[in-house]
Amino acid sequence: MTDPETRSGTPIIAIDGPAGSGKSSVSKQLARVRGYGYLDTGAAYRALAWRVLEAGADAADPAAVLDTASRLDFAISLDPDDYWVRVGDADVTAAIREPRVSAAVSAVARIPEVRRALNEMFRTYAASSDREAVVIEGRDITTVVAPDAPVRILLTADEAVRAARRSAEVTTQDAAAVAHALRTRDAADSKVVDFMTAAEGVVTVDSTELDFDGTVDAVLAVIDTVLNGQAPTDEGHCAEELEERG
Ligand code: C5P
Repeated sequence: MTDPETRSGTPIIAIDGPAGSGKSSVSKQLARVRGYGYLDTGAAYRALAWRVLEAGADAADPAAVLDTASRLDFAISLDPDDYWVRVGDADVTAAIREPRVSAAVSAVARIPEVRRALNEMFRTYAASSDREAVVIEGRDITTVVAPDAPVRILLTADEAVRAARRSAEVTTQDAAAVAHALRTRDAADSKVVDFMTAAEGVVTVDSTELDFDGTVDAVLAVIDTVLNGQAPTDEGHCAEELEERG
């Protein structure tokens, strides 16, 4: 396997987590604060699902999805201050967040050929960044896309908290429908990649009790601890810090 860090020369901050864990907004914010690039991998799966729906094709039909994928003219910005997603000439930044796309995306994401092609594209994007580092967020970044990344984090939160956060973002569905959609998507995605438990060497940050700023601070603390050469514990604190606290 090619080491993404060696290949790109751009260190990767890999962040995984389930829907509603806050990983997109947190990743974007910490990229902003640090001047890093920001790559939202879920947006690529969503853009493909959007294109499949636009074409009137069936997202559950792998041949139709692969055909669409082979012709997908996708582009995404890695600038956290100027985030956009395009398919051809269409700016789909908002459209790919629609509930109909969220409902179709797991079906396209479970196709191995789609995952292989997108993973290669993500590595190429990261390699072409001229930023000091790139935050890549998704479901399998710590395990498949960049398993050798210097910083690997799993961002979690209790399901009820994730559903409440997502419900505040989605204004077109009631809270029960949002919670149901989130559970259904997590269940489908979990069959393809494990983003509920941290792989070896991956630091878990649980944001259940944290607000947005608190979560950003917790993730930044892990990044600084790891980059400064101290091994964090599973909960994101470095061992020396815990010893000092007694
Ligand atoms: O992160 P987001 O919720 O926007 O991701 C949308 C979908 O894309 C997920 O539900 C999942 O099906 C897929 N995905 C994936 N692997 C990633 C990122 C996203 O399978 N690395």
